[in-house]
Amino acid sequence: MSAELISGKEMAASIREEIKERVAGLKESGLTPGLAVVLLGEDPASQVYVRSKNKAATEAGIHSRQITLSEDTPEDELLGVVAGLNADPEIHGILVQLPLPDQIDEAKVLSAIDPAKDVDGFHPVNVGRLASGDPDALAPCTPSGVVEMLQRSGNDPEGKHVVVVGRSSVVGRPMAALLLRKAPGGNATVTVAHSRTPDLGAVTRGADILIVAIGQPDLIRGDMVKPGAVVIDVGVNRVDDDTRERGYRLTGDVAFDEVKEIASAISPVPGGVGPMTIAMLLSNTVEAAVRSAPAE
Ligand code: NDP
Repeated sequence: MSAELISGKEMAASIREEIKERVAGLKESGLTPGLAVVLLGEDPASQVYVRSKNKAATEAGIHSRQITLSEDTPEDELLGVVAGLNADPEIHGILVQLPLPDQIDEAKVLSAIDPAKDVDGFHPVNVGRLASGDPDALAPCTPSGVVEMLQRSGNDPEGKHVVVVGRSSVVGRPMAALLLRKAPGGNATVTVAHSRTPDLGAVTRGADILIVAIGQPDLIRGDMVKPGAVVIDVGVNRVDDDTRERGYRLTGDVAFDEVKEIASAISPVPGGVGPMTIAMLLSNTVEAAVRSAPAE
């Protein structure tokens, strides 16, 4: 069997078109959604992420502001920037690109963002809302993108046994919380596995839908997947590849060539979850803007 490909790239392109239309409508009624992305330092990977977030926002018609501060910016100064954005009526979404340099307390900065503008969904208020099942919580973009991929590919998680491998606060935990919600895209039976799970294969083979966010290339092999399962690979890993000009290629946590012969549907890396993450950031920004507007 060769699995159907769940192309996040294509889905993200249509979501971005939908958002563009929605933004055009909002602009006509006098509301221009605004996103501010704050970057500290010159980490090349972070620069690439921030550039692509700003570009995607601008293409969707969202007012986009990039604030670049030096690597040695003191914590107080960054908190001052966040406070300014919290008070700025043109900005509805604030994203501080992680990781932050050592002199900054990441939790303190994330907690300083107005929860209503927290489009990354990392503020403790939003984490709590999501964990308690609130269907309106602003949720982290990567797991939201996975739910959207499942729904749009006709693989609604409702009633399915979903196994999530990974328990980080960025992917695994919010992923499980989204799948558990009594809301569209939720209502699944959820198992979360991690590095202390003995016999991982015995757990993953029980999954109707397997979502993998580990950060280790090709860890999930064909014999760890139930025939006909749906597999979403969140992992992004750089592996050396002399045949590529840049000397490496990107690969997921799932041994794609093996697993595609077992699964009924699978997302690729690259071109899978990654593009969906940015689309969900735009979606959260528009949602935050709409909620900020006074009710008619
Ligand atoms: P973390 O390193 O924070 O978490 C990894 C998780 O995997 C941990 O819970 C860890 O368990 C678990 N794990 C590690 N090794 C094993 C193992 N051998 N067996 C079972 N579980 C294991 O990573 P993130 O969650 O931040 O990211 C995961 C992957 O997703 C990375 O490749 C990252 O690049 C990618 N990613 C992709 C995004 C996208 O937009 N496409 C966005 C965010 C992340 P334990 O808790 O016990 O240590």
